Amino acid sequence: MTSLERSRALMQRAERVLPGGVDSPVRAFRAVGGTPPVFASAQGAHLRDEDGNDYVDMVLAYGPHILGHRATPVVAALEAQLQRGTAFGGPTALEVELAERVINALPSMDMVRFVNSGTEATMSALRLARAATGRERIVKCSGGYHGHADALLVDAGSGVATLGIPGSPGVPVGAVQDTLTVPYNDADTVRALFAQQGERIAAMIVEPIAGNMGCVPPREGWLQLLRDITRQHGALLIFDEVMTGFRVAYGGAQGLYGIEPDLTCLGKVIGGGLPVGAYGGRRELMELIAPSGPVYQAGTLSGNPLAMAAGCAALDALRDGAAYDRLERLGDRLAQGLRAAADEAGIPCAVNRVGSMLTPFLGVDAVENYEDAKRADLQRFATLHGAWLDGGVFWPPSQFEAAFLSTAHSDADVDRVVDIAARVLSRG
Ligand SMILES: *Cc1c(COP(=O)(O)O)cnc(C)c1O
Repeated sequence: MTSLERSRALMQRAERVLPGGVDSPVRAFRAVGGTPPVFASAQGAHLRDEDGNDYVDMVLAYGPHILGHRATPVVAALEAQLQRGTAFGGPTALEVELAERVINALPSMDMVRFVNSGTEATMSALRLARAATGRERIVKCSGGYHGHADALLVDAGSGVATLGIPGSPGVPVGAVQDTLTVPYNDADTVRALFAQQGERIAAMIVEPIAGNMGCVPPREGWLQLLRDITRQHGALLIFDEVMTGFRVAYGGAQGLYGIEPDLTCLGKVIGGGLPVGAYGGRRELMELIAPSGPVYQAGTLSGNPLAMAAGCAALDALRDGAAYDRLERLGDRLAQGLRAAADEAGIPCAVNRVGSMLTPFLGVDAVENYEDAKRADLQRFATLHGAWLDGGVFWPPSQFEAAFLSTAHSDADVDRVVDIAARVLSRG
């Protein structure tokens, strides 16, 4: 491919003023090496960097751009809203519009509160769960990532898994002493934990489809077990659908698997590419939130009009379900292509996929939890990642991230990804 000359120069400048040259660690390519392209523009399924190189975008801003970049309805909604104002410090019709769309899509939610990121959503949902139950302990899965709030930065996935930091310096022991972890998809450990201290547990928070250890679908019965065991012990079940909400189906993973959590966290897709998060659930729980109730949670730019407008436009474009049919077809093409490429090369490779979210784990036959994921061949992944970049494919720069497709991807885009993988893997 062509050079990354301007990207390299810009990253050198960036590293003087931004830690690691970035505003979110995974963007710095530490797990795979090399210089990250510095992006200048995007359209549909393609990104363009500062040197003019074109990439098929398999990152999609880590999930939000399910319609591709600059999707026509989203751009139109944003342009219209720009003419009216970008923040008012008071209620708007747009918040009601997006809230109604979200609640209609997810029957477990009667009410919703908008925030500015997934991190804020999970942090606030935990506060609510602790207030509602009068208990302090929370349970999460190892390798599960729920944003970077102190209490949840324990054995987390995503950037934390990539950097190999168990939690983080600066997180006080007191903030995590009530956070318990269990392996994903491990029924026995969860049963034992609840049997032992169920009456002290406020909530279990889980990605219904894990996405931040790479994509790991729930085993048959796993989510039902979590639903049953939390209910049985008076704890809340929180689905962190920041990644999966409106991504795997219009009704999220909860719709796909038919499980109703007590609280749901959302982000990414519901903002149409703008910063947003949300949490919600049953009315009696949500009415504990200020100003209806005593649980404090606030935000200067929460429910931001631009984000609300973009979110409404995105959800309207997804609503009739046609997008998910297309995403399923593209996802299947990609998964089959990658599987065939690995088979052909005689390399074990678990290709985990739900709809348009996917991870190939090189060097392993099956990945059902974080321990399995960590056995993947990270060196081989880094080589493949580098080849993808050279060939014009922007793939998440870590084995422990899911790749995404958008409705703007074409068969030719998918084939570019597969062809490069086939070529690189065949070299052994
Ligand atoms: C991305 C993500 C978050 C964090 O969202 P931010 O907007 O980055 O704070 C939380 N949970 C899950 C499952 C995510 O994928």
